[in-house]
Amino acid sequence: MAQVQRMSRLMIKTLRDDPADAETLNHKLLVRAGYVRRTAAGIWSWLPLGKKVLENITRVVREEMDAIGGQEVLLPALLPKEAYEASGRYDEYGDLLFRLKDRKGGDYLLGPTHEEIFTQVVKDMCSSYKDLPVILYQIQTKYRDEARPRAGVLRGREFQMKDSYSFDTTDEGLAEAYQLHRAAYIRIFERLGLDHRIVSAVSGAMGGSASEEFLAPAPAGEDTFVDCPNCDYAANTEAVTFTVTAVADASATGPVEELDTPDTPTIESLAAHLGVPASATLKNLLVKVDGEIVAVGVPGDREVDLGKLGEHLAPAVVELVTAEDFVGRPDLVRGYVGPQGLEKVRYIADPRVAAGTSWITGANKEGKHAKNVVVGRDFEVDEHLDVVVVEAGDPCPKCGTGLQVDRAIEIGHIFQLGRKYADIFSLDVLGQQGKPVRVTMGSYGIGVSRAVAALAEQTADDKGLCWPREIAPADVHVVAAGKALQTELALDVSEKLGAAGLRVLVDDRAGVSPGVKFTDSELIGVPKILVAGRRSAEGVLELKDRRTGEREELTVDEAIARLTDQG
Ligand code: ATP
Ligand code: MG
Repeated sequence: MAQVQRMSRLMIKTLRDDPADAETLNHKLLVRAGYVRRTAAGIWSWLPLGKKVLENITRVVREEMDAIGGQEVLLPALLPKEAYEASGRYDEYGDLLFRLKDRKGGDYLLGPTHEEIFTQVVKDMCSSYKDLPVILYQIQTKYRDEARPRAGVLRGREFQMKDSYSFDTTDEGLAEAYQLHRAAYIRIFERLGLDHRIVSAVSGAMGGSASEEFLAPAPAGEDTFVDCPNCDYAANTEAVTFTVTAVADASATGPVEELDTPDTPTIESLAAHLGVPASATLKNLLVKVDGEIVAVGVPGDREVDLGKLGEHLAPAVVELVTAEDFVGRPDLVRGYVGPQGLEKVRYIADPRVAAGTSWITGANKEGKHAKNVVVGRDFEVDEHLDVVVVEAGDPCPKCGTGLQVDRAIEIGHIFQLGRKYADIFSLDVLGQQGKPVRVTMGSYGIGVSRAVAALAEQTADDKGLCWPREIAPADVHVVAAGKALQTELALDVSEKLGAAGLRVLVDDRAGVSPGVKFTDSELIGVPKILVAGRRSAEGVLELKDRRTGEREELTVDEAIARLTDQG
């Protein structure tokens, strides 16, 4: 039996003004509409309406996790440090981890994510291949001491996450658990009404589909990603890979010619001096890879993405060179490096620096550059790697259309972990052949409280929040304009709607002007607003669609019929 919530008894205080510290739409609106209150930086209290929305999201997540055979558990958030020491994450997490001591001086932490503890639980509970596969999940409070808790519940230091973990004896089993989660996530985000894209979390270099992120496009998002306006391609900016372009014809290019270019150590100064576009020049960035100097060549108008470079070269460590690295290296002329003079230096180049292309680049002499420097004729590229920062307009790797660079909120993450944690905790089960088999794992997260913020960001308009029905705190918001007769009708129709199984919020507050009530109803964002106003004496109400603003006048029975059959 659905309930009728009277606003006269609801703990709510709506605000006309944005909170002073609020930068994002979701933060402003969720506070103003009385869904959440800030308790401390990145720590939020969920008020009655907010709790309902959070519960609705939780319900959808739970139903879809159950549908793929997930078993819900609840593990502690307060954890002894030993398991995280064993995995190395007690230190790796650095300042992100909340650490604390008990009265006896024992070390504890507040769980940021639970791979270690789930591995231990399964080790404790499962001993045979017959006990697997298993998918376990929880919907629980997580703790991360984020450097910049901002944007309201979008990035909390305490937040709600659904985390699940799959345990299998075979790689095929893991791949299947991963696909089950992927499909469940798509259903979850569709039901939540969240517009989303699935992107590979790391570049192909690290093994593509082993980890994907679910991104909800929104200007308030902290992730940038590329989106193809023509096909379904979407990717993390670091994961976009551009392949080698066709070989160019250099037969008509003259020999290398040295140019006098005093005082032009930067691309800007060089391009200005010669009156050429930066794209005609070749920029050579020197880095150290495991201590050895390596040159990276990219068109002068592009930036090197050190993250991408690092990922390509992992596990080698990539660092920038410092002034000391030039000591005793007369072959490296700072600001005037050119690949044609680099004898013993490995040369990595962007695919755009293709065979036969001709460049203006350093002449390896102070104040001098060289033109007509041709790839494959005057110097060799040891390896082509896509290492530039992707830019809007770059060709889509799938269809060639100019890409868009957009912002998004990471709402979910699925990850084939493999045997990393099973190795750390020696998680084996007895296999079919009677020998121990090492277990393989996946881990999968959804930001449940973050989803509230993401949904608010994507659906709000200039009047306020605007929830999809399944997530809204009520199915219908009945507003009594003010007079006793109007309130009576509003309460009567609310009872009937409640009896018909609808969740009703009714504004029966006395002494609040109709204008304030209407503004509040738009701010609160229940999808249907039913007003008992001018024609209440005749038993006629006005039904308004929160999103479209469409209105129609209906009798009580018509309104009930209309609202109940929306399903
Ligand atoms: P981010 O890059 O945004 O910090 P993450 O990649 O560290 O997130 P995961 O470890 O993948 O996060 O956690 C799983 C999910 O939990 C994320 O996809 C996100 O939706 C949510 N989440 C992570 N950190 C927070 C936070 N501080 N507040 C709210 N939700 C979060
Ligand atoms: Mg993530």
